[in-house]
Amino acid sequence: MKAALYIVPTPIGNTGDITLRAIETLKAVDLIAAEDTRHSRTLMAQYDISTPLISFHEYSDTHVMDRLVSRVDAGESIALISDAGTPLISDPGYALVRGVQNKGGLVIPLPGACAAITALSAAGLPTHHFHFEGFLSAKRVARVKRLEALKALGTTAVLYEAPHRIVDLLTDMMSVFGEAHEVCIARELTKTFETIRRAPVSEIREWVLSDSNQQRGEFVVISAAVTQSTSLSAEGRALLERLASELPPRKAAQIVADHYGLKSRELYQQLISD
Ligand code: SAM
Repeated sequence: MKAALYIVPTPIGNTGDITLRAIETLKAVDLIAAEDTRHSRTLMAQYDISTPLISFHEYSDTHVMDRLVSRVDAGESIALISDAGTPLISDPGYALVRGVQNKGGLVIPLPGACAAITALSAAGLPTHHFHFEGFLSAKRVARVKRLEALKALGTTAVLYEAPHRIVDLLTDMMSVFGEAHEVCIARELTKTFETIRRAPVSEIREWVLSDSNQQRGEFVVISAAVTQSTSLSAEGRALLERLASELPPRKAAQIVADHYGLKSRELYQQLISD
């Protein structure tokens, strides 16, 4: 085993979602730095991995990190794992990767499970460009401000959210992007109750509110690119056409855009190209 820090993704639910290379690496390294050693022991037992585990998490003090960097520098191989998915993706590890690299050490990443990518692959939303946001602030004002920035960015955006804040997130998305804005909610990916649904945000919010089961588990929420023409509902489209029959097209587009939280220029383009 080369002296290096190996970044090893682990399953996000279904324990079968781990690569052969990840298992081999975890068996062969000198040490595994795990976010929660108790949590990771279950996976280690399932795959017969007996490598020693050490705790390394967001709140670990710098001595723990320095010791890991020194061990790689001294020729040891260390694997970094998080509780689920790819380390460093809304998980700790960034400072450790930099620390190893800054000392001239090798960092070897392994590809594998990641909730954001798994959700994106089945969202039915454009993926040629996307922005990964992760968790928004728990505070409403900061959350809304960030959502406004995402709206201005205009691209598909991937969010992580905790179950106790999912309704609040959908409510804020509705007020910032407009009721017709398309979102995909991906819950409990790879697990028994996996649910993936794409619809206007107002519909998703109603559905989540009306069924408490939809408020349990782990969530990825994907916000559609705001420039998508599909973000205007059939009702919005009818309103736009009705207004355009009475008003100048620019005025009609402006009114509908304000109402649905869309870009007026795009609605205007749609009107004149029809
Ligand atoms: N590093 C992980 C990854 O690669 O996706 C993410 C870790 S982050 C601390 C945990 C969050 O990821 C959860 O709160 C949820 O938003 C999302 N997540 C993780 N597993 C998921 C799953 N099976 N289904 C849906 N979302 C999931």
